[in-house]
Amino acid sequence: SVIDAAIAALEDVNRYPDSLASGLVAEIAAQCQVQPDNVAVGPGSVALLQQLIQISSTVGDEVLCAWRSFEAYPLVTVLNGATPVTVPLTEHERHDLPEMARQLSQRTSVVLLCTPNNPTGTSITTEEFRQFMQQVPSDVLVVLDEAYAEFVRGEQYVDGLREWSQFPNLAVLRTFSKAYGLAGLRVGYVIGHPDLVSGLRRSTVPFTVPAIAQAAAIESLRRRPELLARVELIVAERTRVLERLLDLGLTVEPSQANFVWLRFGERHQEFLDACSNAALSVRPYGDEGVRVTIGEPEENDRFLDVAARFLSSAHGHCQ
Ligand code: PMP
Repeated sequence: SVIDAAIAALEDVNRYPDSLASGLVAEIAAQCQVQPDNVAVGPGSVALLQQLIQISSTVGDEVLCAWRSFEAYPLVTVLNGATPVTVPLTEHERHDLPEMARQLSQRTSVVLLCTPNNPTGTSITTEEFRQFMQQVPSDVLVVLDEAYAEFVRGEQYVDGLREWSQFPNLAVLRTFSKAYGLAGLRVGYVIGHPDLVSGLRRSTVPFTVPAIAQAAAIESLRRRPELLARVELIVAERTRVLERLLDLGLTVEPSQANFVWLRFGERHQEFLDACSNAALSVRPYGDEGVRVTIGEPEENDRFLDVAARFLSSAHGHCQ
């Protein structure tokens, strides 16, 4: 149905798209139970992220984020002349919010929080988030990047849609690229206070979200029950994969995203070779760790098979 909507929109490609994306904004607002002036859309959440940094930071400013986290954070920071300040994740691969609060300085313009965190899958709790926000000056913009929000299960985790109204300096960042499966169409959105949203609207390049992408995203929101059923399958598979990995004796943190994060220490390369020999595509991050996306059940079985064989052939220490 989403592809049909996109194809139908092709008929009008001689026209400029709706520059305010009013239909899409209205649909997102209804879905998120906010007003249209709380919603800004852009060509992917990474573009909105860049715009948020652009309108709030300049040379000499510091942008604070956890590390490891989404690799675009330091890049978009330096592109705007600002300096990334990174705070290592805790030993459980989580944001170290007390340490991030200590790193706030006069120069901090933006804090980027990624929950669930890419690539580790760990999430920030509501309590941690609120405690942190109490320590952030009101002129520092906080971006809560929830690209994987739809995969989160568990009441304790922060949900930007419950928080934004309390904090005028909070931008909640979401995307159609992950759970909605529309990465190639490039649609993301920000939920926040009207001042923040109007800043984004005034500073955007005109006509950034093509009509085809707007139509597909609208249809996708209308078909949300279908989407949620697919997400539920991925969440069930994630639970199954995590449990099996724990059974195999691996240390693996409880991911809230559609991937799991593994560290193999000295056997990192050996694990990558084992995956590649089994024609499994996994994502290494330097020699630090590997992100494995949850796929269809048969694909996950193949991955679990490789992991089991790899671990039973252990001749070194596995973390
Ligand atoms: N935020 C996070 C945490 C991501 O992992 C990604 C994509 N990998 C994005 C934002 C960007 O997504 P998009 O631009 O496709 O919306």
